Amino acid sequence: MSFNINDKGYYGDFGGAYIPEMLYPNVEELRQNYLKIMAEPSFKEEFDQLLKDYVGRPSPLYFAKRLSNKYNTKIYLKREDLNHTGAHKVNNTIGQILMAQRLGKTRIIAETGAGQHGVATATVCALMGMECIVYMGEIDIARQAPNVARMKMLGAEVRPALSGSRTLKDATNEAIRDWINNPIDTHYIIGSVVGPHPYPDMVARFQAVVSEEIKWQLKDKEGTEKPDYVIACVGGGSNAAGAFYHYLDDTDVNLIAVEAAGKGIYSGESAATSVLGKEGIIHGSKTLLMQTPDGQITEPYSISAGLDYPGVGPMHANLYTTGRAEFISITDDQAMTAGLELSQLEGIIPAIESSHAFAVFDYKKFNPDDVVVINLSGRGDKDLQNYIDYFKL
Ligand SMILES: *Cc1c(COP(=O)(O)O)cnc(C)c1O
Repeated sequence: MSFNINDKGYYGDFGGAYIPEMLYPNVEELRQNYLKIMAEPSFKEEFDQLLKDYVGRPSPLYFAKRLSNKYNTKIYLKREDLNHTGAHKVNNTIGQILMAQRLGKTRIIAETGAGQHGVATATVCALMGMECIVYMGEIDIARQAPNVARMKMLGAEVRPALSGSRTLKDATNEAIRDWINNPIDTHYIIGSVVGPHPYPDMVARFQAVVSEEIKWQLKDKEGTEKPDYVIACVGGGSNAAGAFYHYLDDTDVNLIAVEAAGKGIYSGESAATSVLGKEGIIHGSKTLLMQTPDGQITEPYSISAGLDYPGVGPMHANLYTTGRAEFISITDDQAMTAGLELSQLEGIIPAIESSHAFAVFDYKKFNPDDVVVINLSGRGDKDLQNYIDYFKL
């Protein structure tokens, strides 16, 4: 049994491409070409070169000595926070802009909620001199002013979504409408392992550089490529997909996915999709999502903007339902406390998304000789105001 995607675009029961007919040509063009293009030596060479010289890869695998002492186990941090732009998202946007170029596209669209994916997309568009339009809900534009300014500074146009709740799902609808109207010259850069096939697989493959590096880095440090545990936070699931990728079918390696429980799983203000989600269709794929009994998507909540998503990608829906990965849900308070602890034990201020993963030690006791790798998906600079307000710093 494989936990990777099958040739029909499914992870177990999840995935596929549930899209309007009008979108079919765009998605089909991508599906027919993405593996071929990724396998071209010139593509690989350019991708690797940019990851090295522009993003700053490989990101270090750091042995966290004081954290390890505190929890009496061996903890390594995969330092995605040290990438250019401060998180893992750029691994994917670099890959997709190269893909867009190979497909002959000249115009990039994206949608963003908190703005992090918008910034990562605007960054690579500037790098490649491509036109960039980022759809963003009007409410989110008001809430995320610094990221809106970054996108503009990078030369992107930020287009407000004015319909519905004026947040992420409305921005997604606008982006899809744009793509339908511009099928020839436009590529739609999706920011996580979500969306219709082949997006979840394509994004997972671009992020897989994370576990590819962990393997050789751990071999250097511990004499084995395999940790006992790999732990990552999950919004849509792309940083976790990257950290898990090369271990998916290696069941000696335990996988732990950490979701946001917001103010408590059953508080009505949460994003704990594995516990609360039911099978349904979101963003063009069949997966687990939070919904009302009559199938309306529930508004999610988390203190961390990147985890504030009502679904998970199909890979993770399958990892959950098969039991291949253990899913735990961490509240805002637990995450904030864990973020403060990492800052003061290791001198590393994590993104609040990543802080959720560090709260695993509230839940689970590890053995002294366990090797535990935590994917530190991003740095905390963007979240400083949140930390200031929470801790009254
Ligand atoms: C966007 C983001 C996430 C959540 O997205 P995934 O696709 O689940 O990885 C996690 N951490 C950081 C730092 C982010 O910016």
